[in-house]
Amino acid sequence: MSAEPVSLIDKHISTDVILSSIKNPALVLSLSGKIARLNRRCRQFLPNVREGRLLGEYCEEAGVFGSLRQMIRHARSASGLHPCRLQAKHTEAPGSWLGFFSVLCSQITQKPIAILLEVDDHKVERENRLLALDHDADKRLTALRQFHQDGIHDPLTGLKNRRYMDSFLKMECDLIKRQSVGGTLVVVDIDHFKRVNDIYGHNAGDKVISAVANRLEKRLRDSDVACRWGGEEFVLFLHNTSGHRAFSTCEELRTLIQQHQVEFESRSLSVTASFGITSMQTEDSPQSVFARADKALYQAKTMGRNQVQVV
Ligand code: GH3
Ligand code: MG
Ligand code: MG
Repeated sequence: MSAEPVSLIDKHISTDVILSSIKNPALVLSLSGKIARLNRRCRQFLPNVREGRLLGEYCEEAGVFGSLRQMIRHARSASGLHPCRLQAKHTEAPGSWLGFFSVLCSQITQKPIAILLEVDDHKVERENRLLALDHDADKRLTALRQFHQDGIHDPLTGLKNRRYMDSFLKMECDLIKRQSVGGTLVVVDIDHFKRVNDIYGHNAGDKVISAVANRLEKRLRDSDVACRWGGEEFVLFLHNTSGHRAFSTCEELRTLIQQHQVEFESRSLSVTASFGITSMQTEDSPQSVFARADKALYQAKTMGRNQVQVV
């Protein structure tokens, strides 16, 4: 792999334009792993990181790729955004953070020239979603377009989408084998949601889906992930969390959803949700862990809904 001098990257792509349009902490890496540019938020998030240094001096990549070098090689050969979990080497930086990366191609040669790495900052996601709920139509449109275009967010709720969760689960299944740091997978499904649509209409249904998504995400930590799996179903991954703790988190979430009133055309709607949870095992594949969580959800539904079940 050839080392791209940092200054050369600026001749091929507008790094300033790219970085200033990103709200997450973000950095541009050369193909040899050197930090070419950082945005303002990244300077706050990783205050000790300097341009021109190797990213590997500050953190190691702990996801499916094993090393930053492999991660960069992967980014060069595949399009789209790829999730990763990075582990800080020094204590002054946050311990472990989620991010995603993609390849940047030269505007001159169209060939890969650098890697864009973004930190998945939950606080930023929330700000974006608030913007999407704003009454200002232009701002709303911009925010929605942003979610549409990035390919890993669900435009209605601003949560991660199924595509992201698929790659993320592959990464976590690999991580648990190497590091024995597991987590709990949760499948959440709104109860009798069809009735909301049938009685109040599809717009009311959409508003309920967004409200539930908001409750779910608010309670999560930065190392957890919430995704809209489809329709009125959500999948959560609670990082480094035992089944017991995950159960009480889900009980809290279930209560939050039940108590929340969604205002729609001067009426107050409320819904409940059922939860299926399972702890990830060392030998799990994304399919096997998901099948168990789904089985637990099925139990929660058949036992009367509005409850948490564990398998
Ligand atoms: P259960 O308690 O068994 O989960 O019953 P349910 O009515 O929630 O489940 P069902 O699968 O029968 O219905 C889900 C409904 O969700 C059917 C579909 O029309 C609706 N739906 C799916 N996606 C969306 C969406 O994006 N917006 C709205 N408003 N409705 C949606
Ligand atoms: Mg349902
Ligand atoms: Mg469903």
